[in-house]
Parts: sequence; structure tokens; C-alpha cells
Amino acid sequence: MSRSAIPQATLLLSLFIAALLVAPLLLPEFYLTLLNYIGLYAIVALGLVLLTGVGGLTSFGQAAFVGLGAYTTAYLTTVHDVSPWLTLPAGLLVTALVALSLGLVTLRLSGHFLPLGTIAWGIALYYLFGNLAALGGHTGISGIPPLQFFDLELRSGREFFYLIWAVLLTIILATRNLLDSREGRAIRALKGGAVMAEAMGVNTPRSKLVIFTVAALYAGMSGWLYAHLQRFVNPTPFSLSQGIEYLFMAVVGGVSHVWGAILGAGLITVLKQWLQDWLPSLLGKSGNFEMIVFGLLMILVLQRARDGVWPMLQRFFPQAPVHGPMIKAQALPRRPLPEAGSVLLEVTDACKRFGGLVANDRMSFCVRAGEVMALIGPNGAGKSTMFDGISGVDPLTSGAVSFRGQRIEALPARAIAQRGMSRTFQHVRLLPAMSVIENVAIGTHLRGRKSFVAAAFRSDRGEEARLLQEAAAQIERCGLAEHMHELAGSLPLGKQRAVEIARALASDPCLLLLDEPAAGLRYLEKQALAELLRRLRAEGIGILLVEHDMDFVMGLADRVVVMEFGQKLAAGLPDEIQRNPAVIEAYLGGLE
Ligand code: ADP
Ligand code: MG
Repeated sequence: MSRSAIPQATLLLSLFIAALLVAPLLLPEFYLTLLNYIGLYAIVALGLVLLTGVGGLTSFGQAAFVGLGAYTTAYLTTVHDVSPWLTLPAGLLVTALVALSLGLVTLRLSGHFLPLGTIAWGIALYYLFGNLAALGGHTGISGIPPLQFFDLELRSGREFFYLIWAVLLTIILATRNLLDSREGRAIRALKGGAVMAEAMGVNTPRSKLVIFTVAALYAGMSGWLYAHLQRFVNPTPFSLSQGIEYLFMAVVGGVSHVWGAILGAGLITVLKQWLQDWLPSLLGKSGNFEMIVFGLLMILVLQRARDGVWPMLQRFFPQAPVHGPMIKAQALPRRPLPEAGSVLLEVTDACKRFGGLVANDRMSFCVRAGEVMALIGPNGAGKSTMFDGISGVDPLTSGAVSFRGQRIEALPARAIAQRGMSRTFQHVRLLPAMSVIENVAIGTHLRGRKSFVAAAFRSDRGEEARLLQEAAAQIERCGLAEHMHELAGSLPLGKQRAVEIARALASDPCLLLLDEPAAGLRYLEKQALAELLRRLRAEGIGILLVEHDMDFVMGLADRVVVMEFGQKLAAGLPDEIQRNPAVIEAYLGGLE
């Protein structure tokens, strides 16, 4: 990747903006109208890029939010004579309130129930528009006033053009900024990394609600513009079929790329126009043939280009490096560690059942600050289940867990993370398409405060530099400096485990839960890991370690608990455990 890639990306953007600036001077009205509609659709599709492409939440109901924005201004400007500049915030407020209420109900649904839920309220709102007498029923509302900038009335599409595209470009840049931030990383973790994100302190239901509301606000904004461009609204453009079309636009363009929204909206709008014009003359009869051909083409695109068209185009452009040089930032404050030797974690009579299987059976043990406590046992003994129970990832069936003197067994994973516990996963949970530093930065989530609004406007840069610097420091500490900007998914498994440790450390924990951190490491890497754990222990961090490499465990652990069939088989000092006949029989003997 070359450094000159940044100016090149800026050059492309400048060319695009220049083309937009001269378009109204050169193009006939017909094409400007087309471009206006592409812009309006792209605003909605951009919301879906965020919601569906990045966040993994499929919505068929965005057209209804467009309707809310459009009908609010139509009603207020015609019936109550309110200025359109006031109906914009009013429309966005209505959209946000409806989105928040719908989101609170629907976003809890999982799998295919969520898209079905969006279909349900999409249809409900559409019929509401058509059946409310105050909104003009199916005839709609006409006589909506044009937008006015001082003396300039935006009466024609030519005058409206700049407004639509300025709005679109602004929200594209704001969305891109949002995704490249602390909140953005949490959002990007929703699809495929929600369990990990929660364990790093991310409130995933809240992140989902945020992108759902933002996507609805984009749609509402598009609706407000639409109403004043058309100066007339009726329910038709806010139907479920339009909602489906918005989703197609996002998918065809490139569902996880902000610029894909424009591309998708452009391709579909032009294609439909073209089919509408040419098919009847080609076939010699009229009818809705374009919808049939359109549907077939969509199937083809979904078959051939799953990620949409934008990634195909992107191949021809140089990629900008993800991060510029690091700016020196002030180090993040550290949490005061409990006194070495004090009990950090106390597990009492912990039980976990999976149906008839008892994976953890009356387990009791404790971990102190400044010690390495090893939890060992054959495969299937219940060690990882114990980790999930302690960290809140999969709560215990019964029993008590105290962390730093407080009961935590009923708390969600993010609340436990907040109290200073962090963990790695036996089956590595990284976001493979994100760089190593971005993955590790997710660990710093609870150490930042800036909201998604601050991120959108880039006023979070100071804090962001501190978070990234912390992530970089932990990456170096775990011996991964040379891989900082590589994609996490491209690393070998042993190094991915090290990334998990760096991510856990980035949260500034006082208790670290490591599930088989040395698996897949070479000898020297294991030694470096042992050295790192010794240093952490000396700092006063408590470490609960699950590991199969007995040399590694016995050379490092202060105390050992042995599990078998979910139960505690033995506990003691490493020497005692190595001499314990029951342990040798059950575990060590079985290995040799
Ligand atoms: P270990 O980490 O010691 O190898 P685990 O905690 O992964 O063992 O598993 C303990 C037992 O619980 C195993 O028999 C495993 O099959 C079972 N188990 C683990 N997770 C689940 C689950 N989500 N549903 C059902 N059974 C599970
Ligand atoms: Mg395990």
C-alpha cells in the first residue's frame, strides 16, 4: 500500500463533487430528475448499509419511515401553515420516536423474526397513511409549499439538485466517520461478534437501537426532501414493495460500503427506467414486464455478486491505508488494582446444566490478585463452560460468583467487564475483516466516552488517538507489533490468540481469564507468553488460566484446580497436583 493512496482517494472524491457541481448546468431536466431520485433513494439505502450491511439487521420497512418524514411535513405545512424548516426537525422527531418504539419491540427478535417484524410494521404504517382522513386518505395531500432559501424558492428539480446531493454527501461522510470510531467498532462487531463485544463491555442492544434509529432518520430526511420536491404525497411510494426495493439498492450497491448506497440507488433507478422505456417496445405490448425482468436480474446479481457491485469497482481503485502515522497521545488512566493476595474472584457451588448434561457441578474455588490460578482437566471437563459462567457470557444455572466483593452471577457480561474482568475465548472470536489494531481497540470500549454523534462530526479524535495508542501498546506488549495493521483473519491461529490477549488487556482488567492461550504457539512464543503472564502477575493482576500444556502450566501457576466431569477433582500447589494419584489417573496419565 502506498502513501500516495490518500491523495488519490481525495482526488476521486473531488472529481465526483466537481461533476455534481456542474451537472445542473449541463444536463437536461429529465436526467436531473433521475439524479434527484437517485439521491433521495441513496439517502435511504445508506441507512440500510449501516443497519443491514454493517449491523446485520435486515429491514424491509424503511419506506414507511420515508413516509413519516414526508407526511409530517405535508400535514404541518398544509394544514397548520408551519414553515418547512420547522417541519424538518418535527418530522425527524416523529421518525425517531416511532423508530425507538418499534426498535425496542422488534430488535429483540432474532433470526428471521426481525425481517418479518419489519414487514409487519411496514405494512401497518402504509395502511395508516392511507386510512387517516387527516392525511387525505389514498388521495394524499397536495399543495405542499416549496422550500425557500431567503428569496430563492426551490421550485424545479434543477434548484433542488444541490440540496439533495449536499445532504447525501454529508451523511455519507458522517456515516463513514461514525464507522471509524469507538462506537463504530462496536457497531461493526454486531454482525458476527456480538458475544465477544458484550464481553468487552459493549451494550449491543443499545448499538442496535442506535443504528436502527439512524437508518430511520436518514429515511425520514429523504421523505421530507421528497415531499417538498414533489409538493404532493400519497401512500404509494411508502409501500412494502418500495421498502423491498430500498433493500435491493443497498444489496446491489454493496451492502457494507457507504458509497455502495449511491451506486445501488443509481443502478436500480436507471435500470428500472430503462426497462420501463424499452421493454414494451421490445415486446410489442405493455404491462409490468419490467418488474419480472427486474426480479430475474436481482436473482442473478445475488447469485454472482454477493457483496454487491461496489467491491468489484473498488478493485480498480487504490486502497487508502487504514491508518496514518500514530500521533502521540496522553496515556489512558489505569484502574487502581486491588491489593496483591486479596481475593478477587470467589466461585461457590457453581452449577451449569445443558439439558440433562451437568457441565459444571458444585464448583468452588477462588482467584487472588497477583496470582496465576490454573484450571486444568481433560477435554469436556467443563472449563470453558466455567469461564462463560464467570464472565456472564452464558450464566450459571445456580451458584454464586463474587468479584471484588460484589455478587455478579446475575449480571450481563458487559457489566462484569465494566467491573474489571476480561477474557479470551478458546475458539477465537475476532472480527477477521478488521485490522489487528481495530480488533484490539474494541477492548478499550469502556475506556472511552465519546458518543456516536461526536464520532460522526469527528470531535472524538483526541479520545480516539488515546484509545488507539493504548491498543497499539498492548499489541506491542503481546509481540504483535509487525502485524498491527494486517487483517486479523489473515494471521495464523496462534497469533490470533495473542490478539485476543491484547484485546483483553486493552480493557485494563484486574482479573484476566485466559482459555488455552498457548494452544498453537511455538516454543519460543510460549516462553514469551509465560514471560508476559509473569509480568502481569507481578503488576498485581489475577489470572485464571485454562491450558493443556502441562510444562507451561506447572512452570507458571501458583495454584491449580483440576476438573473432571464438571466436578472439582483436586486443588493445590503445582507439586502436590503433579503427585496426586487421582489426578495422574484421570488426566496426566491419560495424556502420556
Ligand atoms: P472444556 O472446556 O473443559 O473442554 P467445555 O466447558 O467446553 O469443556 O464443555 C463441557 C461439557 O459441556 C461438554 O460435554 C460439552 O459438550 C458441553 N457443552 C458445552 N457447551 C455446551 C452448550 N452450549 N450446549 C450443550 N452442551 C454444551
Ligand atoms: Mg474448553
